[in-house]
Amino acid sequence: MATIAFIGLGNMGGPMAANLVRAGHVVKGFDLSPETGRAAKADGVAIADSAREAVARAEIVVTMLPAGKHVVSVWTDIVPAAAPGALLVDCSTIDVESARRAHIIASEAGLPALDAPVSGGTVGAKGATLTFMVGGATEAYSRGEPILATMGRRVVHCGEAGAGQAAKVCNNMILGISMIGISEAFVLAEKLGLSHQALFDVVSTSSGSCWALTTHCPVPGPVPTSAANNDYKPGFATDLMLKDLKLSQEAARATGAATPVGAEAAALYERFQAEGHGAEDYSAIVRFLRDGKGAG
Ligand code: NAD
Repeated sequence: MATIAFIGLGNMGGPMAANLVRAGHVVKGFDLSPETGRAAKADGVAIADSAREAVARAEIVVTMLPAGKHVVSVWTDIVPAAAPGALLVDCSTIDVESARRAHIIASEAGLPALDAPVSGGTVGAKGATLTFMVGGATEAYSRGEPILATMGRRVVHCGEAGAGQAAKVCNNMILGISMIGISEAFVLAEKLGLSHQALFDVVSTSSGSCWALTTHCPVPGPVPTSAANNDYKPGFATDLMLKDLKLSQEAARATGAATPVGAEAAALYERFQAEGHGAEDYSAIVRFLRDGKGAG
């Protein structure tokens, strides 16, 4: 069993750290919010007074933080305090450039590192069913894989430093685009007099099927567990979808990739958020499109 430090014990990090405790690891955590720290303590995570204290004796250090600037600043702080040979693993969703910067901070101190963002949301974090997409050297991956497997169902080595974040932004750009496509189809079907259930029954077994439809169906009824049945309470909040779409567009600009539909998806979610819907599930975009607000 390993000694693991876990920095950032929020909606995702808290249950992920709890799963490591359940698997028998010794977990020492830190979060800026004392309330969040208390919740993790109830799950068996020992709470340190600082991030530096949490990492001091850890063989593996996991961070789960809001954005790239937090990861770079926390890694700058903790890397000098980490034990020799400690493996650093960042599971946050951040821009590829900051992920590569974090790898450099670790390697300059002689420490191995992985970027390992996740898919599966808070349900996957609680149930240990996350998918991890991992970037970093093969030896670092071999060390980190068993720990990640404790918190998830699938771990994929995507390539060198930053490759995990690259996979994440591509995946979530597809998800955002898919949700808008599916929502537009439901709005068109309504105008054509076609029932939601009929459209779902056909598309879910036809060439238009996708995960956004079969898991996060944006209208109530066909998929009882989708947020549409719960007044669009997240689920996966619009704020987070917009964050990921913006990361995809930053990456597209940085690399010169043409992603016109991804850019349009980001613009639509930005307008939806600006109208005060950031805390709603991202599938609520169907209401925005139904009201004709997506036009023009
Ligand atoms: P969250 O806001 O609930 O948790 C982030 C935690 O980091 C907070 O508790 C905050 O207090 C803490 N924090 C911030 N700065 C810190 C610092 N300097 N030191 C210590 N703690 C600090 O967010 P979350 O939903 O847990 O998301 C975390 C990451 O996972 C994000 O990058 C997000 O994009 C990604 N993600 C989230 C989901 C989801 O469904 N929530 C799904 C996939 C990926």
